[in-house]
Amino acid sequence: MSTNLEFLDIASLSIVQNAVSEISDIPFSTYDNSGVLLIPPKSEDKLTVQIKSYASGREEHEKLIHNGIEKASIRKEASLLKGPANQHYLFIPIIANNYRFVLVSNAFYLVRTDFEDFLIKKGEHFGLSISHLESWSEIIKIKDYSSIQKIAGHIKPLFETVLRCNYERNLNSKRYQWTKTLIDILFDIQLPTPIDEVYSLVTDAILFLFSVDTVSIMVKEKDFFKTVKTSGRLKDDAKSLCMEENNPMISRSIKGFAPTSTNDIVEISRLGFPDSINSLHIFPLSCNGCTYGVVIIYNSILSREESYSILEFCKLVCLVLKNLTLHDSYDKCIKDMAVLNTAAAKLPPKLHSHDDLCETIVDTATGLLMAEKGSLMLPEEDSLLIKAVKGINRWLVRDIKIKIGEGIAGKVFKNGEPLLVKDIEKAELPYIKPKRHYKTDSFVSVPLKFASETVGVINISDKITGDEFTEQDLNLLNYFASYASIALNVSYCYILAEQMKELSITDHLTGLFNRRYLQERFTEELHRSERYNFAFSLAMFDIDNFKILNDTEGHLAGDSVLKEISSIAREHLRINDVLCRYGGEEFAILMPQTNKEEAFMVAERIRNNIRGALAHRYKKFPHPYITVSMGIASFPDDGKGINELIKYADAALYKAKSMGKDRTITYSREIT
Ligand code: GH3
Ligand code: MG
Ligand code: MG
Repeated sequence: MSTNLEFLDIASLSIVQNAVSEISDIPFSTYDNSGVLLIPPKSEDKLTVQIKSYASGREEHEKLIHNGIEKASIRKEASLLKGPANQHYLFIPIIANNYRFVLVSNAFYLVRTDFEDFLIKKGEHFGLSISHLESWSEIIKIKDYSSIQKIAGHIKPLFETVLRCNYERNLNSKRYQWTKTLIDILFDIQLPTPIDEVYSLVTDAILFLFSVDTVSIMVKEKDFFKTVKTSGRLKDDAKSLCMEENNPMISRSIKGFAPTSTNDIVEISRLGFPDSINSLHIFPLSCNGCTYGVVIIYNSILSREESYSILEFCKLVCLVLKNLTLHDSYDKCIKDMAVLNTAAAKLPPKLHSHDDLCETIVDTATGLLMAEKGSLMLPEEDSLLIKAVKGINRWLVRDIKIKIGEGIAGKVFKNGEPLLVKDIEKAELPYIKPKRHYKTDSFVSVPLKFASETVGVINISDKITGDEFTEQDLNLLNYFASYASIALNVSYCYILAEQMKELSITDHLTGLFNRRYLQERFTEELHRSERYNFAFSLAMFDIDNFKILNDTEGHLAGDSVLKEISSIAREHLRINDVLCRYGGEEFAILMPQTNKEEAFMVAERIRNNIRGALAHRYKKFPHPYITVSMGIASFPDDGKGINELIKYADAALYKAKSMGKDRTITYSREIT
């Protein structure tokens, strides 16, 4: 096999060879260890030319050179061989960086008598006789043994050092070019680049730069390394190959962070690789302790230097791929956040209506996971009730009650932990009976938690695409569930606030009793008066021109008038009278055990006090006084029912308004 001269610069080696020839006064030539002449001698000696001009001499000479090289290429030391004309040749083996060369000298004699001997005994075969002794003595070289030994001793290390430097310089420059090209390729990758394009770039770069036959990238997926990209001659054969993670070649390459190779056909076919593949080189794609995959080179011979460069390249590729994956997941997070924000924004407008909110939660959650079916369950006593559904007939599930702690939702509610089932057939959940009415075997169920309390469960099933739900889906739903549980709690607070409002008996602006309280007291008073035969009266009053006051002086002034009128009225009432704010600027006074005349006096006292207290207060209000109009109806003379009495008091009030306001009118039959 001839030597791979890729990293040698023959021109500079010939300069060294010729310098050595000059200095030692013997021309040298350089052969590789298989006998191929790499650098010829500067000149050939005349005697050798004379001998080689005869067929037998040429043959003998070639045989000698061949033997000498063969011998030298398995030895470390220089050796001398005697040629057909009794002359000697020096063979110096040169060993550096896996290269073996042999330096071969031109012919020389150790002693002059060897030449004489040759002329006498064999000279005539090559057209020479003893008569040529004098003329040829000038031409032949005579070197004594010790100077030959010295020459060999100096040339060997000199040549080897030059060779090593030469090799290393060329290798480094080649490596620099490879590395630069590879770095440039990776550096030019703009984010975001589809990962598939990066794979192509990597396989193509290796293919062209290192002239390999076929190259693939395998990416780690669970316990396997699967081919994701292939370039080269055997593209089709290699494109769907995969290897197990625990394959010794793969694990050796990853653990040792080194290439592993084989050309063992039996081993290769045991891996399930096709017959067209007869060798593999596996390079790890790993960095910072995490393995992304491997690069595999098929059917190629790689030098140590090439392997080393590819290994370094793989380190960088791994960083780029990791960067790309991080960028992708960052991008996905941002998108998820935007989707989540849009989803969450659908909830606040529904806070006032609990039922609408529940529907929106299920609709949005189902949409978020691109699913067909969803349900929201809320607790009631020791069970969960299906409060809202999507893609499921609500009448079918209306009466379903799931005991807390039982079934999927019951467990999720009780444990407060989300559940993602990718394949119900494989899930080890003894409490789940696979239900055939679902299209896919995958579902998610997440608890709605507020502080440490679980307030409900969202269940989502049947992805529209038919795929299984992923961890990312679960995360997204979990985040949404946090919003949903806050919204549910706020909506409970609204319900509670409404209930509280219902239960309250005072008006928050004026501090007076409200209409609800009046209703209660009215009923009591009616019963009492009926039982004991008492009279009682109801006065209703309304602020005159209050709208104008609001319009001219502003709403805050209106509020303060409402408060002031309330406290004036309160001050001038008797202890048993019940004063309440009946509506906007309308008031009612329930006066127990008071007949119409007495009631009129109380009403007038209040009316006059209001009129006096608020005189000339406001400049923009067109009237000098703020006045009220009053209407009175009495039990039992005017009516015996609550509604009747209110109606009549109101009619009397209306009458007071129609008569010019600022007065009190008691009800009489003529009014209606
Ligand atoms: P009339 O003399 O016939 O009673 O006329 P009016 O302007 O007083 O009656 P109207 O019913 O037309 O207007 C009542 C106004 O009272 C309208 C409403 O804005 C105002 N009002 C009701 N409740 C409040 C309140 O709590 N604060 C204030 N500032 N205004 C109120
Ligand atoms: Mg009014
Ligand atoms: Mg009014």
